[in-house]
Amino acid sequence: MTEKKLEGKTALITGGSRGIGKAISKLFSQEGAKVAVNYNSSELDAKKLKDEIPDLEIFKADMSSREQVISMFSDVRKKFGQIDILVNNAGIMDVMPFEQYDDARVRRMFDINVYGPIYASLEALELLKKSREPVIINLASNAGVGTSASGTTYYAMTKAAVVMLTKRMAFDFRDAKIRVNAIAPGWIKTDMTLSGKSEREIRDAEEFFKSRTSLSMTGEAIHIARTALFLASRDSEYMNGQILVVDGGRLD
Ligand code: NAD
Repeated sequence: MTEKKLEGKTALITGGSRGIGKAISKLFSQEGAKVAVNYNSSELDAKKLKDEIPDLEIFKADMSSREQVISMFSDVRKKFGQIDILVNNAGIMDVMPFEQYDDARVRRMFDINVYGPIYASLEALELLKKSREPVIINLASNAGVGTSASGTTYYAMTKAAVVMLTKRMAFDFRDAKIRVNAIAPGWIKTDMTLSGKSEREIRDAEEFFKSRTSLSMTGEAIHIARTALFLASRDSEYMNGQILVVDGGRLD
């Protein structure tokens, strides 16, 4: 029998009730981790996930609210005492052409995508310091390292901030030996990229993004979950402050 890669570890995944976060939660659980999932929007998604992974713990909080994050971590602390892995996955993409700037919507994106990981990492520090192999994984985006798609300038800016946050946290947490790395996915089929689209629009988007990758394929949440497993496990023990681009070889 092959050894499970996260046996004995506890992982907290933000925004873990669907999409990439859900795939990470399932894979980490299969690999032996105790998994705590943060969710905000849908009680139903959280319940469905609990049906799929019964020994999962779920914690509700809007990750853009400092107060709610502090209160959630107080519950996580009571339940687990320590965590080994924090995955800052919760995020939104609000597509908006540059000239159609909307102050509240852009600020909301920054609040969730940038302040969320800051708040979570601040509160997780004490719990991670109790681990022998502490790890933080941030979900950036290939948009944050320079690839372009129409209407995503403000989103790309939030993810560029996540890239720098990753590099700086790896430096700032060096004494605590917390490894901090990020994944920069390309176009992955989740609610973020598919919801609200007709079947035809989805087919067109798939064709478009296929034609933009050297592998001629679009991404699935499991591709990102496997990368997260690599970064969470000892397999990546000599990596720190890095951004792994997982986008099928984007051509522009
Ligand atoms: P998704 O929309 O399917 O899932 C995002 C999750 O974050 C949801 O569970 C949602 O409820 C949660 N969330 C949103 N705001 C929250 C808040 N304020 N507090 C707590 N949870 C909140 O999207 P996804 O594709 O699974 O995206 C996951 C991460 O990967 C995001 O950070 C996203 O920016 C990043 N990403 C996705 C893609 C892609 O193509 N899907 C590409 C690059 C990066």
